[in-house]
Amino acid sequence: MLSITLIKKSIDDAVNVFYNKFTAFNIPVIRVCPASRRKVVRDKILEECGVYKEDSYGTEAEVISGPLDTQIVVYQSMIKYEHQVYHAVWHELGHIMFGSEKKFGVDLECDTPLRSGYAVVNEFMAEFIAYFVNERKPFPTAQRANIYLQMAFQEGIVFPYWLSRYYAIILGDETISVSDVDEGKNYVSPEVWKYIMLIMNLLLEQVSTEDFWKVNNNYLEKAGCFYDELFHIVYCRGITF
Ligand SMILES: [Zn+2]
Repeated sequence: MLSITLIKKSIDDAVNVFYNKFTAFNIPVIRVCPASRRKVVRDKILEECGVYKEDSYGTEAEVISGPLDTQIVVYQSMIKYEHQVYHAVWHELGHIMFGSEKKFGVDLECDTPLRSGYAVVNEFMAEFIAYFVNERKPFPTAQRANIYLQMAFQEGIVFPYWLSRYYAIILGDETISVSDVDEGKNYVSPEVWKYIMLIMNLLLEQVSTEDFWKVNNNYLEKAGCFYDELFHIVYCRGITF
């Protein structure tokens, strides 16, 4: 576990690098939650932000956003290395840059293409922004892209979180080769692969624009329709491993 002092220094370094890329972005307060007082400090931050959010143990950092404030929390108990702090801070700042579900009017209770699209693109964008800030270098904590692809297709369903991670590495990490992408074909059926590529092309088109993190609802709905179709194929007809 890294000391609080070292985590704070790493946060400052991470913020400076981020700020060099996105000078117009308002960096929120970033707090460290000490391992010994996790609950007390987290509860205090929730109160400051004026929101309740369930504690998902196992995350390195998270955004807490409410009517009173938006803050990023880094959990000391999860941090072993400085590079973990950089990655976590850039990723969470990426979430804030992309925008909350409220910004897009996503109703989390309703299963709509907009909600599916938001789930996939939000997580993709946070991670892609982390790669972008890291000069497209691979992160030491990341596994190989195709591991995430396999994690995305398990138990006869699709896990959007892992699919987003897969896309972020494929499109964000400059060391990924054409053959790495091609290898993905081995893990899914041709029909599933077709939809994986349709979403990939949509994301690629977006990250090729100048202000790539700015998307509109139409875009999210389009991504969501592809994703829902993909889910339908996997759930109803199964896939080939
Ligand atoms: Zn995330």
